[in-house]
Amino acid sequence: MALKDIIGQEQAIGILRGCVQRNRIAHAYLFAGEDGIGKKLTAINFAKTLNCQNNRNALRVTSNEAKTTSHTALRITHYEIDCCDTCPSCIKINKSSHPDVFFITSTDGQIRVDIIRGLEESLSLKSFEGQWKVAIIDEAETLNQSAANAFLKTLEEPPAQSLLILISAMPESILGTILSRCQKINFSPLPLKKMSTLLKDKNILNKVTVNEEDVKILSMLSGGRLGMTLSHDLIEKRDRLFNDFKTLIRRPEEDSWEDRDSMEEWFEWAHLWIRDIAVLKATGRAEFLINQDKANEIEDISKKAGLHDILKLARTFTRIKDFLRFNVNKRVTLHYTHLLLKKTFG
Ligand SMILES: [Zn+2]
Repeated sequence: MALKDIIGQEQAIGILRGCVQRNRIAHAYLFAGEDGIGKKLTAINFAKTLNCQNNRNALRVTSNEAKTTSHTALRITHYEIDCCDTCPSCIKINKSSHPDVFFITSTDGQIRVDIIRGLEESLSLKSFEGQWKVAIIDEAETLNQSAANAFLKTLEEPPAQSLLILISAMPESILGTILSRCQKINFSPLPLKKMSTLLKDKNILNKVTVNEEDVKILSMLSGGRLGMTLSHDLIEKRDRLFNDFKTLIRRPEEDSWEDRDSMEEWFEWAHLWIRDIAVLKATGRAEFLINQDKANEIEDISKKAGLHDILKLARTFTRIKDFLRFNVNKRVTLHYTHLLLKKTFG
């Protein structure tokens, strides 16, 4: 794929293309926006564009001409600033094996200082293939304190012809001194109507036709994040997790959660159910629900609790979810969560 294939992020990609066209590529960008809306795809394809061997001459012409001529005289148009997806450089980046493009992501919920020191060293070396060195730092909010401080040094003295792309769904958790050194590019969720239209286009979902009812549910569930709907078992997963949620009100099933990831996932979905339960309690109107097809079951649950207690539970669940990154005991958390649910809805 290439930049032109990324759906719904025309504005963000337009800004990046504009930077290339004017030869004003920043040392560091922060791609900010919710998960599943195309930040990582854009980062990868931007790295490909900068290093693309078929685009290299065109980009060089742009850079040179931009210095001496007006924008209208440029030979390459805005939309041609893209990667070919077929040259050796593009292929290597697709396979994460390009020697000048680095992907960093958190392990066990954080990015550690030794990883950042390693990156710093790699960036300081001359590029292997003579183009841009690009580091893509996913979940940048998980840089721990010492890693963030080390990273700040790289940001303050960026090696020549290097680019840092920070990706985050929680930019407010990133150190202010890091944020102030990055050009922020916002990625927005797609409007509901556009999501529905896209989901009806079977080419988007790998030739899978989605029926009218599922299109509606998927559009609502995804909250405008197309990437989320591409896992075509989303509705199935939702149904399973809703059943787990209802079961946990009655009893704790010891094998409910496999690992920390599944605990996190459970709390994310629980947040969605509690949102719907609270909305129905407050308004009595099923058309405001995200899971409208589950209105009857949500109503049954909501009858058993007051709005105040439902909102209190939502806050407690948010706190528990925050604690998950500190290796909490799975069994204790499961029993505690069950008690909270039982107290509120039992
Ligand atoms: Zn290429």
